[in-house]
Amino acid sequence: MIDVEQLRSEFPILSTEVNGHPLVYFDNAATNQKPKVVTDALTEYYDGYNSNVHRGAHALADKATQEFERTRELIKDFINSPKTEQVIFTKGTTEGINLVANTFGRANITEGDEIIVSTMEHHSNIVPWQMIAQEKGAVVRPIPITDEGEIIFEEFEKMLSDKVKIVSVVHASNALGTINPIEKIIEKAHEVGAKVLVDGAQSAAHLPIDVQQLNCDFFVTSAHKMFGPTGMGFLYGKEDILNDMPPFLGGGEMIKEVSFDGTTFNTLPYKFEAGTPNIADTVAFAKALEFINKYGKENIAAHEIALLEYATEKLTSEIPSAKIIGQAKNKVSVLSFVIENIHNYDIGMMLDARGIAVRTGHHCTQPLMARYNLEGTVRASFSVYNTFEEVDKFIEALKRIVKMFG
Ligand code: PMP
Repeated sequence: MIDVEQLRSEFPILSTEVNGHPLVYFDNAATNQKPKVVTDALTEYYDGYNSNVHRGAHALADKATQEFERTRELIKDFINSPKTEQVIFTKGTTEGINLVANTFGRANITEGDEIIVSTMEHHSNIVPWQMIAQEKGAVVRPIPITDEGEIIFEEFEKMLSDKVKIVSVVHASNALGTINPIEKIIEKAHEVGAKVLVDGAQSAAHLPIDVQQLNCDFFVTSAHKMFGPTGMGFLYGKEDILNDMPPFLGGGEMIKEVSFDGTTFNTLPYKFEAGTPNIADTVAFAKALEFINKYGKENIAAHEIALLEYATEKLTSEIPSAKIIGQAKNKVSVLSFVIENIHNYDIGMMLDARGIAVRTGHHCTQPLMARYNLEGTVRASFSVYNTFEEVDKFIEALKRIVKMFG
């Protein structure tokens, strides 16, 4: 069991006030807060060994390179990648998906091909595929979902054929919380020769990730949803697929030799890492991974799920005019809902006035909102540092809002 009070003390922002109230931060699916070890690591890098990586023959460059590559090692272990070379640093999930769409996609998708996503995808797992589909004359097809917010597996099976080149699905939905059965999706997709990309933005910090066991072809995520800095993330890929893929961005670092007669490319992972990377945030991300490892992902998830169950029960029993959007059996700690006759934006504003931060709107999932005939929802998403008392405050605030709109 995690000592939540002790853990909270590692996060300076949690003792601040917003609008005259102690901050209650329930917007963790958008980005979570950072423990001090992470923010300290940024200053330590800039004040202590700021230097470019992989280049200099001097002590600072050596230290920066060592710390930078140590993050890759930690990620390898975190997801059980066979090799560190299969871990490619990116700006985040969005860049990871764009990288795969623009390299693997452009090289392998041809006219008449199909790209399968699900109805609950984030825009970042729809738009890059639409762009490549438009260029190639291919189509993007969404897997339908039930009213509860679960993928209809039989429909997915019916969509599979040798025209499908890639299935790109979210592991856990940011808007509903649904955990998708990706093992089964991967197995079925492979039967028709399709590759599978898993969007792990909402899963990497909450669910066990073993890329070898999953047998996914690509896995992408963002550090800022894992207690790490923004502008940082990674792409994992199977070695043979990554080796066969053309590079993404061209520039320094990604080359072996350059001449005006032609250029040869670097080996993995550098082939996909053009230019000076985001060194400070990469180094600091190591501290975030160590933070998760210190408390244990299962313990973190257990607390988050206890909060979700508590909040779900309270919302259902104490606010009858609330309707939960996303009632899958397996969920991460996301509670999305609407309240009859009150706009989600008004609820968000009034919660904010009481220091309670939630997300409102479409959550970058407009096709999903259209599936429910909604413009948006209110989304409370819980992290390990949240408390049951904070949930009580949230429910009390919602009750007052409902009364005001009476
Ligand atoms: N996919 C999902 C499921 C997400 O929740 C997010 C972030 N909200 C993204 C993709 C995009 O991540 P980023 O903005 O960090 O690139």
